[in-house]
Amino acid sequence: MIRGKMFINGEWTDAKNGRVREIINPFNQEVIATVPEGSAEDSHAAIAAARAAFDEGVWSAASASERGERVRLIGQKIANQNEEFARLESLDTGKTLEESRTDMEDIANVFFYFAGLADKNGGEVIRSPLPNSTSIVVREPVGVCGLITPWNYPLLQAAWKLAPALVAGNTLILKPSELTPLTTMKLFELFEEVGLPTGVANLVLGTGKEVGAPLAESTDVDLISFTGGIETGKTIMQAASSNVKKMALELGGKNPNIVFADADFETAIDQALNAVFFHAGQVCSAGSRLLVEEAIHDDFVEELVKRTKRIKLGNGFDEKTESGPLISAAHRAKVESYIQIGLDEGATLACGGKRPDAAELQNGFFLEPTIFTNCRSSMRIVQEEVFGPVLTVETFRTTEEAIAKANDTIYGLAGAIFSNDIGKAERIASKLRLGTVWINDFHPYFVQAPWGGYKQSGFGRELGKIGLEEYTETKHIFRNK
Ligand code: NAD
Repeated sequence: MIRGKMFINGEWTDAKNGRVREIINPFNQEVIATVPEGSAEDSHAAIAAARAAFDEGVWSAASASERGERVRLIGQKIANQNEEFARLESLDTGKTLEESRTDMEDIANVFFYFAGLADKNGGEVIRSPLPNSTSIVVREPVGVCGLITPWNYPLLQAAWKLAPALVAGNTLILKPSELTPLTTMKLFELFEEVGLPTGVANLVLGTGKEVGAPLAESTDVDLISFTGGIETGKTIMQAASSNVKKMALELGGKNPNIVFADADFETAIDQALNAVFFHAGQVCSAGSRLLVEEAIHDDFVEELVKRTKRIKLGNGFDEKTESGPLISAAHRAKVESYIQIGLDEGATLACGGKRPDAAELQNGFFLEPTIFTNCRSSMRIVQEEVFGPVLTVETFRTTEEAIAKANDTIYGLAGAIFSNDIGKAERIASKLRLGTVWINDFHPYFVQAPWGGYKQSGFGRELGKIGLEEYTETKHIFRNK
């Protein structure tokens, strides 16, 4: 049994109020850890530590290459312990071990990439229009960063924020999801090993309302980077107005997957399944809205349903498992309520829609992969983020209709187009109001390319060079003579 702690001002600590929370394995509901269940008092201590460390300036004054070297070392240590981190992540989230191993490789690469940018984050000299003067533009750290992350990719989402925040010279407080804090706790052990100065990186544990909200409200926090649900994002945005914090919001998605009749059938089927059922659909960019050209609709759906029924649910540690459980009883109940909404709205249940019968799955939060056909854009099941293994299918006849239906949502995170006419696909890509568009693929992302949403999927970008700029302020220094 793991006994977790918070990390505040260079020390591992319990919650000031002494409370603890049990962390459970979503595959069998066994208690795998107890961790502190903090309160606002702990958040305020962490904010004070980060503020003092920033104002002291040891980390921001270190050379960029020294900061880069420490961040690179963190990546190296993660790479060296890939298996330990991956096992912990699968235990905590229920996702397959194979998926967690890939996540850990990606995470090490995130630290390597931003470490490599550390000494390339310079400014520029610009020609001043005034005589005998010089203008230089420099990039400086923002200050104290509050980083708040969700449970679906616990360490990956944290890494996307931590690596650039550290490289840019900020100090920070990380608040992971209360459901999945284990790998982030382990990461903070590495921060200690590489010798980050005291107070630079702090970890608080507990619920959003108790330990997350104080980060958004505090006038000592200069930036909030949040990944999570849209309603939480709105609450945080309001709270962050207290001192006009800089912000980045990475919110949900209801991502369209457009399949044309001229697409490679096999590829489109494989990717339609991957798009929505990967990690049991608990992915912000899940392709949960399938738009199929009418000419191939019946054949496509028939094959899709056949293959969906074969998806093997099980323990993430079993090599044969293709999909694990949902994260919690409450989350499964939410997804089930959406299945009922779909039925009530008149969509046709083509497969799934219930908990699996297998005896060995009864203690986990499992739900069968579900497909609804005969859907219309006006249905709630088509408009709202379900965040589970539920696919809706609509048809279209023309390219214009496909574009209109794809854009008919408040979200704008990601989506895909399947067609062998690449020129057509690229023209459609330019018309989709989405932060990422895949052509003939679904889900690939990498650290060199930016990630983020249009519309109510949020603002700000993570990853890529722009992902580092989010954590910097830009200053113009003008010198006369
Ligand atoms: P959530 O919004 O419930 O919680 C996210 C985090 O915010 C958690 O750490 C939570 O404790 C904290 N929180 C909750 N209320 C808070 C408050 N009032 N003040 C401060 N912090 C608060 O989301 P979730 O259920 O953990 O994650 C699922 C959501 O995350 C989905 O909507 C998904 O689309 C989204 N997501 C988006 C991306 C992206 O890149 N756009 C990536 C992953 C997940």
